[in-house]
Amino acid sequence: MTIKEISDGIKKKKFSSLEITKTYLDKEDKFDAFITRTRELALSQANNPAKTSLISNIPFAAKDNILVKGIKNTCGSKSLKDYIAPYNATCIEKIDGILLGKTNLDEFAMGSSTESSFFFTTKNPHDSERVAGGSSGGSAAAVAADLAPYALASDTGGSIRLPASFCGVVGFKPTYGAVSRFGLAAFASSLDQIGSLTKTVEDAETVFEVISGKDKKDSTSRDIKDTSKKKRFKVGLPKEYFTSELDYEIRKIIEKAINGLDAEKTSLPNTKYALPAYYIISTAEASANLARYDGIKYGLKTEGDNYLTSYLKTRAESFGKEVKRRIMLGTFSLSSGYYDAYYHKAQQAREEIKKDFEKVFSQFDFIITPTSPSVAFKIGEKKDPISMYLSDIFTVSVNLAGLPAISIPVGDINNLPVGLQIIGKPFQEKNLFSLAKIIEKDVKYFSSHS
Ligand code: GLN
Repeated sequence: MTIKEISDGIKKKKFSSLEITKTYLDKEDKFDAFITRTRELALSQANNPAKTSLISNIPFAAKDNILVKGIKNTCGSKSLKDYIAPYNATCIEKIDGILLGKTNLDEFAMGSSTESSFFFTTKNPHDSERVAGGSSGGSAAAVAADLAPYALASDTGGSIRLPASFCGVVGFKPTYGAVSRFGLAAFASSLDQIGSLTKTVEDAETVFEVISGKDKKDSTSRDIKDTSKKKRFKVGLPKEYFTSELDYEIRKIIEKAINGLDAEKTSLPNTKYALPAYYIISTAEASANLARYDGIKYGLKTEGDNYLTSYLKTRAESFGKEVKRRIMLGTFSLSSGYYDAYYHKAQQAREEIKKDFEKVFSQFDFIITPTSPSVAFKIGEKKDPISMYLSDIFTVSVNLAGLPAISIPVGDINNLPVGLQIIGKPFQEKNLFSLAKIIEKDVKYFSSHS
C-alpha cells in the first residue's frame, strides 16, 4: 500500500497502525533488503503512535547510514558492524514514525548495486538474479517488494534514483540543502542529500514536506519558499543523454512517456566531464570523511604492537576493496603536487556543469533524461569498477549542480523496470512533483511486486 492508502485506512478505522505494522514485520525478507529489522521498536512505536508529523503513524524503513538512536548503524561496513547510533538524524526526529528496519547499502554508500556491502547483496524483486541497484538497493527493494510503504535513503551521485529505476519505484533526491543531513553518515558532504523511495509521486511529496526545511544542526540546510505554481511546463531533452549509444528500447519508452509534453532538444555540453569530476570530488571528500573510522574515534579496533601498527591493522581490516580504492584515489588527488591537476580541475569542471544547467534552465522549466543507461544488471556482471561507475552517467551531474531530481517508473523491458528522470530548478520541488504526477498518470505504470 501507499502512504496515502494506509493513512486513509487508519483514518476510516479499517485497520490500526499496529495491525498494519505487524503485517509488514511478518513478511519474509526474500530479497535481503534489510540489514536489521527493528521489530520491538516498531511494535512499541505502533502501539502508541506519535502525532508529531503527518506520517508518524505510518511504518517505514531507513537506509543503514541514517542514524536512529539505540539502533545499529552499520553503513554496510565491517568497521561499523557493531556501532549503535547515539542520537537520531534530523529526518528521523521530524518523521517520528514507526521504524521497520535499516536497509542494505553499498559500503558507505559507494557503489551502484549493493555488491560492496560487507553483509550481502540485495536482490532485485523483479528478478532475483539481478541487482536492486545502489547504493540504496535495500531501500528500493523494500518498497518494491512491499516490505515497507516508503523508505528513506541518501543520494550522492544517484544512489536513490538508480535503484528506484532498477526496482520500478519512485526515487526522489531533493535540492542540496533542502533536507538536513544531520545524522547521515557522510560520504561526500558537498554532494550527499537525503531523499525517499516511495510507490507514488504523491507519497514522495508527503515525505518531503515532513523532512525538508532549515535545521540549525546542518548549516547548509534551508527553508524553502516555493510558491511557484505552473500549469504548463517546457521540457528540455539534452542531446548528450540521448546519443546513438542509448539502448533503443529505453529511448522508445522515454519518448512514449513524454509524448504530449512541450519538449524540445537542448544541450548540456559539459556532460562528458561529469563522471570524472564526480569521481575526483566524491573520493577526495570521502577520504577526509572516512578518516574518523580509525578504531579510536569510531569503528572496529584491531590491536597491534604500538599505536602505528594498531592504526594500520585497523584501517586494513575495516574496509572492503571499493572503499579502500576510493580512500586512496581521494588521498592521491588531494596530495600536494596533484591537487591542482586533479581536485582543482574537477572543481572547475563542476562549475562548468553548473553553468550548463543554468543556461538550459533560462529557457526550460525541466530537463528529462533516462535515469540509467540500462535495466538492472546481473549480480556479479560488472567486475571492473569503471563499468560500474558508468551506471551513474545520467545521475551524477545533478549532484554536482545541487539540483532536485526524481526517477519515476515508465515502462519495462522483459519485466525489468525502466526509469525516467526529471531534473528541476533549485528549490522548485513543487513544480517537479506536478510534472512527475502528470507523467505518472499518463504512463500508469505502477509496480506492485510482492
Ligand atoms: N554509485 C555512485 C557512487 O558509487 C553514487 C553513490 C551514491 O549516490 N551514494 O559513488
